[in-house]
Amino acid sequence: MSQSRRKCKVCSKLFVIPIDSRNRLSPRQTCSYDCSIVLRDTNKKEWTKEEIQFIHDYANCLPSAVFYRDFKKATNKSGKSGRSFDAFKSKVNELGYTLTPVYNYIKLSDVAKKLDISKERVWYWVKRGLRVQYRCKAKYRYVTLGAIKTFAKTKPHFFWGIPHYKLYALIGDADLAEHIAMKYTKRPYCIAKPRRIICLETNKIYDSLKKAADANFLQITSIYKSAKLKKPTCGLNFRYYDDLKFLRGGHSSASGQ
Ligand SMILES: [Zn+2]
Repeated sequence: MSQSRRKCKVCSKLFVIPIDSRNRLSPRQTCSYDCSIVLRDTNKKEWTKEEIQFIHDYANCLPSAVFYRDFKKATNKSGKSGRSFDAFKSKVNELGYTLTPVYNYIKLSDVAKKLDISKERVWYWVKRGLRVQYRCKAKYRYVTLGAIKTFAKTKPHFFWGIPHYKLYALIGDADLAEHIAMKYTKRPYCIAKPRRIICLETNKIYDSLKKAADANFLQITSIYKSAKLKKPTCGLNFRYYDDLKFLRGGHSSASGQ
């Protein structure tokens, strides 16, 4: 049985073509591992100055997906074929950067790490108006440092108890960081006076939301929603007693005139 041979693309030696698992000839182009490395290196596309400059300009500033997308846009203009994400990533690492944005965009979890607070607290800020700038496919959320800064300006009480040097390191505004650290040392704590609740169906008056909830075997939040949105819950209508009293007082004075 004659073995078929092929010419090595690098050193032009004839080599026996190996048979693969499906009994077919392997597509190998080179005689040895060393030759295959040489072939791979010659096939490599050289990185242009533009491409490298783009990486230098934008590295560590953008979330990885945005960075790669913009990179492709910028380099495809000059008529070059695109590079794979892996190639791009390894080049970025080779130039001494990482794909994690450090300067402008920042992951929510990194905000928590940098300020030494819980992730949940930062999530709560997002609910309360901290603007998320970008959400990547892996569901990481990114905010800009500017967004954090404006949030700190408008709602400084959310930043209670954070040491000023940590806040300064993140938002880069010494005065604001100092002001927040001086003024908001403790968690803002407001114990609201319990408001009386009245059930419209039974005309019973309860001293607080909790008592109304316990007496009717309901959740506190459902009583609260019923009173706030003026809608029934489980067939019962709950209202704040003071609101109702005020309304009734208004009506009686109007009818008296
Ligand atoms: Zn060879």
